[in-house]
Amino acid sequence: MHLRELLRDAARSWRELGSGLGELFFEARCVLCDAPSGSATPWLCAVHDLEEQRLLRPTCPLCALPAAESAAPCSICAEGSRPWTALVAALAYGGAGRELLLQAKLGRRSASLRPLAEELGVELARHAWARGARFVPVPLHAAKRRARGFNQAEVLARELAERCGGRVVSLLRRVRATAPQGDPLTRDRQANVARAFSLRRFARVPASAVLVDDTCTSMATLEACAQVLRRAGCRELRAAVVFRAGAPAARVLVSDDAVF
Ligand SMILES: [Zn+2]
Ligand SMILES: [Zn+2]
Repeated sequence: MHLRELLRDAARSWRELGSGLGELFFEARCVLCDAPSGSATPWLCAVHDLEEQRLLRPTCPLCALPAAESAAPCSICAEGSRPWTALVAALAYGGAGRELLLQAKLGRRSASLRPLAEELGVELARHAWARGARFVPVPLHAAKRRARGFNQAEVLARELAERCGGRVVSLLRRVRATAPQGDPLTRDRQANVARAFSLRRFARVPASAVLVDDTCTSMATLEACAQVLRRAGCRELRAAVVFRAGAPAARVLVSDDAVF
């Protein structure tokens, strides 16, 4: 074993010991408001629990929007052909989940992504294909990645790989900076991201992979990435995102009227 590896292992053990001791002596705190953690996830308080943001189920297995039954694709997905065999999402966009993502992206705090990765990890654990999978993060443009200090999709992919016993394979790069997908000025989202991605040099594309991103809005980004991977020989492709924008949370079933 090289000296560098020995040092890295020693540093990791020291860090783990440190955080273990920290948990013994200090109460876990909410990453959003610093109140004592009291929710099911160790990084959030009861107020900022993510449970309320969980998707209304059943969802379509190909687009994660509400469906009549979870095993069958919705009418739109049944008509067209998605480039993947599954799209797994954990949360509706909003609430504490949105705050965590903004804190991570704008405040440059990658640790704020942990509770989100946890939520997505729980969803993925329901699928046998996620075990030992190759997780491919949707890339950021190099300039954006430099400014933020990390790519949130990469951080999520790392956490998921750890939970599922898989590996992160960074196969893609963003060759063109694109306008944000939520931008109302972006009339044609498909055109906005077309040819925005390419394979990295010397990328070895596995036969099956799971694309990872933080949010899926129009699916144009995921589809553009999927096309690149499929053309490169990835036959079995799936996708996992924390947020499915446009999908309702389960809590909408409990309306204010029902309370009074
Ligand atoms: Zn809180
Ligand atoms: Zn669908």
